[in-house]
Amino acid sequence: MADLLDEFPSATVTLAGLLEVLPKQKPRLYSISSCPLLHPGQIQITVSVTHFITNAGKEGQGLCSNYLAGLQPGSTARIGVHTSTFRPPTDSQAPLLMVGPGTGVSPLIAFLQYREALRNQGKQLGEASLYFGCRNHDDFIYREQLESWQNQGILTDVQVAFSRLMNQKVYVQNLMRQQAATLWTLLSHPQCHYYVCGDAKMADDVFEMLMAIAKIEGRLSHIEAVEFFDKMKQEKRFYVDAWGVQLNFKQAIQEVQKDNYSKAEKWLEQVGEELANGRYPLDLS
Ligand SMILES: Cc1cc2nc3c(=O)[nH]c(=O)nc-3n(C[C@H](O)[C@H](O)[C@H](O)COP(=O)(O)OP(=O)(O)OC[C@H]3O[C@@H](n4cnc5c(N)ncnc54)[C@H](O)[C@@H]3O)c2cc1C
Repeated sequence: MADLLDEFPSATVTLAGLLEVLPKQKPRLYSISSCPLLHPGQIQITVSVTHFITNAGKEGQGLCSNYLAGLQPGSTARIGVHTSTFRPPTDSQAPLLMVGPGTGVSPLIAFLQYREALRNQGKQLGEASLYFGCRNHDDFIYREQLESWQNQGILTDVQVAFSRLMNQKVYVQNLMRQQAATLWTLLSHPQCHYYVCGDAKMADDVFEMLMAIAKIEGRLSHIEAVEFFDKMKQEKRFYVDAWGVQLNFKQAIQEVQKDNYSKAEKWLEQVGEELANGRYPLDLS
C-alpha cells in the first residue's frame, strides 16, 4: 500500500479509508531451533533477515524478520507458540536423514540438541545424516556446532552444498545424487525417518531426487518408488516442513492437464457449432 501511494502521489486517502482497506498483519511463523531438555525455559529461533526489491524498483525489508533483527537484548516481543507434528522419532536408535538448507536447518538443530540430551542420559543413538546448503562459507550458520556434534557422534555425517562458491551452483539435491548408494542404504532401513525443512520448491526438488535414488539404487519401478515413500508417510517416518510458494508437483500437473482439457473441450465445442452451422473451420483436405 505504501508503495502504491508513493507511486501515485496525487492519490489522496483518508486515514479512516486507509484503515478500512488495510488487511490485518498475519503472524509470521518460525521453527523452534532449541530443545527444552537442553535449554529449559527457552525458545531459540533461526531467522533469515529478508530484503527484496519492490515492484517500483525500491529496496524493501521484510517486516517481521527486520523487526526481530532490530530488537535489543532484553527487549520484549509478543509471540505465540504452536505445537508441531514435525518431531524427532521416539526411538533414539532410529536412523535419521535430515535435509535443511539455509534457515531450514532450524528445527533440525533442535533435533540434534535432543540427541545430545539423549546421549547425556546414556541412550544409544542411531545414524544421523544432515544435508545443509548455503551460498558460501560466510553464511554457513551453526558450522562449529555441527562439527562438534559430528566429533561427538551425535551427527554421523554432514554434507554441505555451497551454491555460490564455484562457477557451478551446487544444491543439496546435487550432493544427494553423489551419495545415492549411501542414501539408499539409509532410506531402506525399516526405521529410517526422513525430515526436510525450508523452501517448498527445494523440498519438491529433493523429493524428485529421492524418487530417482529409489529407482536407480533400489531398482524400484515408478509405482514401487511411490509406494515406498507412501509407506514411510503412513508409518510417520516422512516429514515435510516447507514454506514459500507451495509447489505441489502432482497438483500442478493436474491443473495443467485440467486447463488443457478444458481448452480442448471449448475448441471442440466451437468446431462442432461451426460445423453445425455449415461452416468448415478446418481445411481437412
Ligand atoms: C511453517 C513455517 C516455518 C517457518 N520457519 C522459518 C524459520 O525457521 N526461519 C525463517 O527465517 N523463516 C521461517 N519462515 C518464514 C517466515 O515465517 C517469514 O515468512 C519470513 O521471515 C519473512 O517475513 P517478513 O515479515 O520478514 O517478510 P514480509 O514482510 O512478510 O515479506 C515477505 C516477502 O514478501 C514480498 N514482499 C513484501 N512486501 C513487498 C513489497 N512491498 N513489494 C514486493 N514484494 C514484497 C517479498 O518477496 C518478501 O521477501 C517459516 C514459515 C513457515 C510457514
